[in-house]
Amino acid sequence: MDDNQLSLFKEDEYKAPKNTKALLWDGEGPKKVKAPKPPQGVTVPKGYHWCPYCSMSVKLVKDKKLGIKRCPICSMSSRDYHMKNANFNL
Ligand SMILES: [Zn+2]
Repeated sequence: MDDNQLSLFKEDEYKAPKNTKALLWDGEGPKKVKAPKPPQGVTVPKGYHWCPYCSMSVKLVKDKKLGIKRCPICSMSSRDYHMKNANFNL
């Protein structure tokens, strides 16, 4: 293994390959749940889902590449534990 290959494993020097998108940027930690369930008095409109990470009702968008649905704001997957917990219809 030469030096060029080794540098790929150094976290601070790693750059996402061309035509790909890095999912986490520098200093980004795991997403935090703000409201695990819709607060009392808040109703989620039909066709919308509750995003525990954005703490608001969102219309999930389909990710064509992976075949899942995502929150359009924080891009959290609908298969996420807290997402499923907050929405019985996922
Ligand atoms: Zn969200």
